[in-house]
Amino acid sequence: MALNVAIVGSGPAGFYTADSLLKADPACRIDILDRLPTPYGLIRFGVAPDHEKTKNVMRGFARTASDDRVNFYGDVDVGDALSLDELRGMYDAVVLAVGAAHDRQLGIPGEDKAGVVGSATFVNWYNAHPDFVDRTPDLDTSSVVIIGAGNVAIDVARVLVKTPAEMAATDLPAYAAEPIQGAPISDVYMVARRGPVEAKFTNVELREMGHLENCVPQVAAADLPDEVTGEMSPRDRRVREKNLETLRTFAAREADEKPKRVHFVFFASPVEVLGDGRAEAVRFERTRVENGRAVGTGEHFEIPCGLVVAAVGYLSMPVDGAPFDHRYGVVVNDAGRVAPGLYAVGWIKRGPTGVIGTNKPDGRDAAQQIVDDLGSGGGMPGRDGLESLLRSRGRRWVDFEDWRRIEDAEIAAASDGAPRKKLYRREDMYAVLDQQRAAG
Ligand SMILES: Cc1cc2nc3c(=O)[nH]c(=O)nc-3n(C[C@H](O)[C@H](O)[C@H](O)COP(=O)(O)OP(=O)(O)OC[C@H]3O[C@@H](n4cnc5c(N)ncnc54)[C@H](O)[C@@H]3O)c2cc1C
Repeated sequence: MALNVAIVGSGPAGFYTADSLLKADPACRIDILDRLPTPYGLIRFGVAPDHEKTKNVMRGFARTASDDRVNFYGDVDVGDALSLDELRGMYDAVVLAVGAAHDRQLGIPGEDKAGVVGSATFVNWYNAHPDFVDRTPDLDTSSVVIIGAGNVAIDVARVLVKTPAEMAATDLPAYAAEPIQGAPISDVYMVARRGPVEAKFTNVELREMGHLENCVPQVAAADLPDEVTGEMSPRDRRVREKNLETLRTFAAREADEKPKRVHFVFFASPVEVLGDGRAEAVRFERTRVENGRAVGTGEHFEIPCGLVVAAVGYLSMPVDGAPFDHRYGVVVNDAGRVAPGLYAVGWIKRGPTGVIGTNKPDGRDAAQQIVDDLGSGGGMPGRDGLESLLRSRGRRWVDFEDWRRIEDAEIAAASDGAPRKKLYRREDMYAVLDQQRAAG
């Protein structure tokens, strides 16, 4: 009897798991459920709109979803449409691949003021996530502070300063492009608690900041050490040396070369967001790095700004019916095994770190564990049970053919050069499907 496996979440971790399972047990049947009508998780809602090539991985995922043994159930929230226990009652194995979609807090006074936003919220907004399209930030300011020194911080800075021409061939939605590109922003400060050697940028993303049409990168030469010191892998050392080299070229750039500037500010820890009801400045304490940790020096300074974006990491939320480790923000698991028949992969298993490909080994491990634990012995009703339960509750879902229709409508509506014009309201997506059905 075929093994019936449900994967909750259609981001990279979910798709890599499906892919590995199809190879590990060619007789299995896999159903991928997502709370959103659209597949691909952070590939659609995280990856920056001007990095279309990064999204090419979706093509391979689409091939997996189109396999006869795989079904997609979009707009099915596990925890709302049905419970995890109900799902486990219908499948031989359930794999949690729900990611970590929530903002980590700064933990400083004033962060609840208007004009302070987390990067998850901000990125979801400009990437047309259905739950965030109405969270328009107030961009009426000349100065923005981004707290954090990783690729997400760089993505946010880049999207804020790129010109309309630089963003034309992207899927940045018009409702975000208009306020961003019409904003009087001239200076973006990316502030890191530690130094350039500890910063987590990848070099391609950092170098890109030196080639923007209307914006020049700035960094204080005094913040750049002569060499990379400390214990680290040869690979990490290479990346950091390259980053230092790139930052040295930034230190030589003139502030008035272009109308906008992105300032890389190192050795500064946020202490408080200042302002009367809304953010007007961030107060920082200067730091020095001791044994890899930022230590306060007692010296303070302020950066005036009207918008603060906290890019300090992501958090998972507990999944009802699965044990949760609040300290590490992950589902309690032993190398991916959560409970008999229940597995975890991706950010909900490991925490929010790494790139798309980092999720691949998780998928391989989960597939192997499922085959090892269950053999090929199935017996649970799988999709027949799921569909009759959803129907009995009057729940509609988006299958993969439906998604292809939505995707085709997005591609057809795109202006010249843009890959797609994203639909971002559920009702608009269902309207596309209903119109096509009515047209026969
Ligand atoms: C802003 C940002 C930009 C990034 N850019 C890059 C990049 O350029 N290149 C790169 O290699 N990596 C990038 N990454 C990292 C990469 O996106 C992650 O490594 C990867 O997406 C994590 O995969 P995941 O499947 O664990 O989670 P996700 O991609 O978040 O997928 C989780 C899925 O689960 C669904 N889900 C959640 N709860 C439920 C529920 N209750 N029921 C059903 N479904 C549910 C969600 O809707 C989502 O589709 C970026 C990350 C972020 C945050």
